[in-house]
Amino acid sequence: MGGKLLIFSAPSGSGKSTIVQHLVKLDLGLAFSISATSRQAREGEVDGREYHFISSDLFREKIDNNGFIEWEEVYPGQFYGTPKSEVDRIWNSGQHALFDIDVVGGVNLKKEYGEKALSVFVKPPSLQELEQRLLSRGTDDSEALKKRLGKAEYEMQFSSQFDHILVNDSLEKALTVAESLVRNFLAL
Ligand code: 5GP
Repeated sequence: MGGKLLIFSAPSGSGKSTIVQHLVKLDLGLAFSISATSRQAREGEVDGREYHFISSDLFREKIDNNGFIEWEEVYPGQFYGTPKSEVDRIWNSGQHALFDIDVVGGVNLKKEYGEKALSVFVKPPSLQELEQRLLSRGTDDSEALKKRLGKAEYEMQFSSQFDHILVNDSLEKALTVAESLVRNFLAL
């Protein structure tokens, strides 16, 4: 199977999802890997599009049945995982798999797939800037915000384990750099 993996990881709020959504729309032969999660769907999210939304019980059952390539309890009580069937589905369709995944998950996937994978750490310009972005996104209450910021600080330590660090200080620039990283890796 000739497929590859493009892994984008970052603390949440660093603009990673915007970059991933941009890449998937380009004519690069990329398909988004749809993770499973036990968290509730947010407004506007559709089951089977952003995520497969499943119960914690079903998530645990899938862990026991070895159904994930990797999984993480990204926030306490909130599980996220890459189903084994996703990579097969995407590669069988002749495409490359594109991942929006947390930092530890990204490191694990890169270890698993080695040269077949390009791993990119999307870095916010600063933790202060990240706080501003999360505040203006307005999807979290103050407790959730504090959790995300604490986690972001921890996750920054993993950046050196990625193939590339992409600093997202200007979204326009970050999109261009992300596209060229992917094109070079796929030799398009
Ligand atoms: P959110 O709840 O904001 O959609 O996602 C929270 C975090 O979980 C994000 O960093 C996202 O990239 C990450 N995530 C999404 N899917 C997966 C997955 O399959 N595995 C892991 N390890 N993290 C994931």
